[in-house]
Amino acid sequence: MLGFQTPVIVFGGTAIVYLVIILLTLRKRRFGSWLNGLFFLYLVISIVWVTGKAMGVTEGLVPLVPLYGILIARNAFAILPILLAVLTFLFFERKGAQNAGVLGAICVLVIAIVDSNLFNLQNLLQASLRLRAPGQVVFGLVFLEWAGFTGGALVLAVMDYVRIQRPLHRNRILYWVTATLLIGLGEGLTMLPDAWLTQVGAVVRMSGVGLIAYVMLTYYLPSVRAATRRFISLGLITLVTAGLFLGSFVVLQWAIASLPSGYVVVGAVIVSVLVSIVFQPVRSAAARLVDRFVIGGSYDPAHALREYSAAITSILDLDTLVTMSMGTISETLEVRRGALLLTTEHDDGHVDVRVIPGMGEVSIRSAEFDPHSPVLSHLQQARQPLSQYEIDVLPELRLAPLSERAWLEQLNMELYVPIRHQTLLVGILALGSKAGDAPYTVQDHDVLSTLADQTAVALQNARLVSDLKKLNAEMVVLNEELKHMNRRLEKLDAAKTHFIQIASHELRTPLTQVRGYADIMADAVKSERPTPAQVAQISQGISRATIRLEEIISAMLDVSEIDTEALSLYRTPLSLMSVMRMVTETHQNAIKQRKQTFTVESMDDLPNVQGDSQRLFQAFSNIVGNCIKFTPDGGSIRISGRRLTEPSGDGVSTEYVQVLIADTGIGIDLDDRELIFEKFYRVGSPDLHSTGSVKFKGAGPGLGLAIVRGIIQAHGGKVWVESTGHDEINFPGSIFHVLLPATTKVVES
Ligand code: ADP
Repeated sequence: MLGFQTPVIVFGGTAIVYLVIILLTLRKRRFGSWLNGLFFLYLVISIVWVTGKAMGVTEGLVPLVPLYGILIARNAFAILPILLAVLTFLFFERKGAQNAGVLGAICVLVIAIVDSNLFNLQNLLQASLRLRAPGQVVFGLVFLEWAGFTGGALVLAVMDYVRIQRPLHRNRILYWVTATLLIGLGEGLTMLPDAWLTQVGAVVRMSGVGLIAYVMLTYYLPSVRAATRRFISLGLITLVTAGLFLGSFVVLQWAIASLPSGYVVVGAVIVSVLVSIVFQPVRSAAARLVDRFVIGGSYDPAHALREYSAAITSILDLDTLVTMSMGTISETLEVRRGALLLTTEHDDGHVDVRVIPGMGEVSIRSAEFDPHSPVLSHLQQARQPLSQYEIDVLPELRLAPLSERAWLEQLNMELYVPIRHQTLLVGILALGSKAGDAPYTVQDHDVLSTLADQTAVALQNARLVSDLKKLNAEMVVLNEELKHMNRRLEKLDAAKTHFIQIASHELRTPLTQVRGYADIMADAVKSERPTPAQVAQISQGISRATIRLEEIISAMLDVSEIDTEALSLYRTPLSLMSVMRMVTETHQNAIKQRKQTFTVESMDDLPNVQGDSQRLFQAFSNIVGNCIKFTPDGGSIRISGRRLTEPSGDGVSTEYVQVLIADTGIGIDLDDRELIFEKFYRVGSPDLHSTGSVKFKGAGPGLGLAIVRGIIQAHGGKVWVESTGHDEINFPGSIFHVLLPATTKVVES
């Protein structure tokens, strides 16, 4: 007869429980992630295992059933610890789940090979280990594999418990550790030869698996620590009240023994009345004491909130408000770290989160949150505090962008309390863990929400004041900039007015010369025939004057081309050294005339530039010409070059050639360093300028450097001047810098 013995009922019963767990798991969650899928597999194999176990203990009609049962149970049992280890790796989000899986598969394969006695392996091992009973080798291997993987899973869980400080996370890990312990203990018991212990083991294991299912299906787990404390406190209170009864019992016993029989009843009545009077106060006193020492001191939230509310009404400064709110929180809830996160929504929907440290060390910088950040929307809508535990565990919050989660992780807070003004999220109180790493209670959540509500208006006011202050500071800067701009415009305006004077002066001088020479010629023709020497002198004068006229007119045309961006360049690869040679030749006479020293160095090894040689000659010639003019007789002008490399980010660097033209002249004031590159601008009064291309301080119409800037910029380059100031006694000198892109690109190694 097929016996429905107790073991069959026990194993069958556990199989049904596993099935119920499967159904619950399926109902509660979709099997999307690896963790859930593997847990499903774990449950299925658990059912196969206990079914095998149940088959193994049947006695009766079908002779092969127990044999197959033992085989099924053994094979299924070999897989279970591996799955438990992999599940633990995945649950703690540790790397190595894959490796554990592969190692497990190898172990199962080895056991299967030995079990099937392939290559006579089992017999060989049995003989070499001198084991007598058959199957001992396989049992030994399964035991080792079980001990290794179950122990590994347990060690991993305990390590995480030690590593992680957050109370709610630790609570969850504690559940996992307990579950692993129960599973390990249960499986260990099922391996013992005793039939009863095997059944107890199956039930213990089942409770462990049930606990794992509970942890995976439930996010809000009751606090193990709080439950233990409550249990201890209940025990202590019971102990105290039991003591009271015990005392009265001893007194009664004494009364029975020593008082005459008539007084015993009176004594008993007195004792009972006394006990009933003191029972309640003693019990409450005991409860209060135990609560204080075991559960931790309680506080009066109403009082703290009243005081806080009164204190913050007049605060208009953000930092003071933060200090105040953090102070209250730290006093009432014994929180050690905290900050205020100020949220500002941008036009594009992104939310700027600025950290204002409040207490403890908070060293993280501000962040930008996604417009659809689940964490922020949760805080905005839920009104309730949100814990870091929820951010890490709840599926809808785990969808938050990785950068946001990493930032919150780095902030290392335990609780986020939204501060809402009307429906707008204006800030968040971010709080670290409480003293002794105690978790926040429901009462704490309520207190913090009320405190956040009270803070909202004050925070909004403080933010407005802070914005106003910032605006004010910006206005001061703007005002300064405006003044500077004004000065610059005034100078430019003056330059334009001067230009008319200068242009008329510049143009009239050569014109007058031409006219003068023409008159001389006419007089000479009228009175007597002019000599060839006279004619030569007159024509030279006329030619010099017209050349000057031509120069001025072409400078004006150049400037107008630059203005209309019509400057056309004929660019070829060229060496700046060749340009410098032309410049040197052109100014040779002037330099000699002014007894100046002129040197060109480190220009030979420079890379080529893609440039218009005529225009670059014109630019450098203008600069050098100015240097000659604004350096006293006997001074020096030095030209040098160097190459510069600037990384452009994509692994390729841009090479530049920098030419420095330094003189020992009168120098340029800070205010004029930019302006001299504007057209018509010349330093100082136009009356003080003498006309002439080489004379000391002999200025032109104020177009030379404007042309230089136009040409260099058209080549993709930059020009600027460095000087400590204008000083016609000490001659501080000026250095003109010209930066031009080289034709070569450098690939960074
Ligand atoms: P200009 O036709 O008057 O030379 P530029 O545009 O060439 O006009 O120069 C503008 C002004 O810049 C000059 O009038 C002079 O005051 C100043 N400047 C130019 N080069 C130098 C220099 N090397 N040292 C001192 N001042 C200079």
